[in-house]
Amino acid sequence: MELHSQRFVAEILDPRKGFEPARKEVELRRDPLTGQSCRILPRGSLPRPERQDLEEMARSSRESCPFCGERVEEVTPRLPAEVWPDGRIRVGEAVLFPNLVPYAKWSSVSIYSPGRHLLPIGQITPGLMEDNLAAQAVFIRAVRAHDPDSVWASINANFLPPSGSSILHPHLQGAVNPTPTTVQRLLAEQPEGLLEAYLEAELAGGRGLGSTGPIAWVAAFAPVGPAEIRALVPGVASPEEMDDHLLGELARGLCLALGLYDELGFQSFNLACYGGPAGGGGPPLFVRLVARACFGPLLRSDVMWSERLHWEAATDVRPEEVARIGRRRFA
Ligand SMILES: [Zn+2]
Repeated sequence: MELHSQRFVAEILDPRKGFEPARKEVELRRDPLTGQSCRILPRGSLPRPERQDLEEMARSSRESCPFCGERVEEVTPRLPAEVWPDGRIRVGEAVLFPNLVPYAKWSSVSIYSPGRHLLPIGQITPGLMEDNLAAQAVFIRAVRAHDPDSVWASINANFLPPSGSSILHPHLQGAVNPTPTTVQRLLAEQPEGLLEAYLEAELAGGRGLGSTGPIAWVAAFAPVGPAEIRALVPGVASPEEMDDHLLGELARGLCLALGLYDELGFQSFNLACYGGPAGGGGPPLFVRLVARACFGPLLRSDVMWSERLHWEAATDVRPEEVARIGRRRFA
């Protein structure tokens, strides 16, 4: 597989340099899996992600947090008894319950722990992550046993408000639907073996980070935002097909990737783990994470017209640089 890129030069008369001509190279890349394009801007084109005062955010939101302590028992919904008789699914410290907002036919929220209102990105341990992923896998299996037509499952996350989270208390979200989302459909329409060929192309291009067990991690050639990281989980198509070993290796890799985001200055991220329906025939399980941030006193979003309406990210974080730094963590 060839990964296509194209370079061009933008020229202005720069007021910061006495209106001398300034030429900047821009690289246009296209993701071979989705067709979505991306512009890699010269380093330093965009402001660095800004550290938010998480302690202060935690202080002001803890009192009314629905996921904290005993409150989670009183104010979060319960699963119907025919899906899960206990109403909520518990694995280790993780607690899973239905989402109040029906983002999917079956929509879940799973907190890492009722006791962890604040859990910065670099402090999520592989154990906490594994238990939370396992709770989502149990949820998906329970839903599918009850509703066999809902075959499109995913595990996702908005982590902290820059990524879209409305509740600070860290959590994952599960979605199980009778129809695929746009990206689930795009991946399922690809010829068999494309994801594996794509992974080889990323590794050949020097964007490999390393592996956790059988799971290979890469920095995306054409990211949807800053520092998109991807992984392929071989041998399974849907998240609930992962056994304890795969869940553990996925958790370990996610924590290494989140440590990398922390090192790059990011505090927030989005996550999606999706593939084809369970039982095979479709694409393997694909994992994607992208860093998120707000900027400056106006809390400027990191997503603008380009991302929302042109499906083309603009980032000055070079994927090859992400891979270079990330390899130290995965080594
Ligand atoms: Zn809380």
